[in-house]
Amino acid sequence: MLRCREVAERASLLIDGELGPLQRLNMRLHLAMCRGCKAFVEQLRITQDLTKKAAELGSEDIGEGVSAVLSRMRSGPGSPR
Ligand SMILES: [Zn+2]
Repeated sequence: MLRCREVAERASLLIDGELGPLQRLNMRLHLAMCRGCKAFVEQLRITQDLTKKAAELGSEDIGEGVSAVLSRMRSGPGSPR
């Protein structure tokens, strides 16, 4: 069983598909049981997706969108609007 810190360290590898089958299975098992890590991986996936799109398009508008998403993540749920 992986620890949360190990999942966080390997999250970007999981998203990039660079983990072996066993490691991927261990990650999936942990994510199935740990809501914190599941949310972390989902947020990271969204962030990497946006970053890749921004890089492909070379668009500053999307770059600004990414920083908006990141600052929203940092403020966390339940923060005043
Ligand atoms: Zn965890």
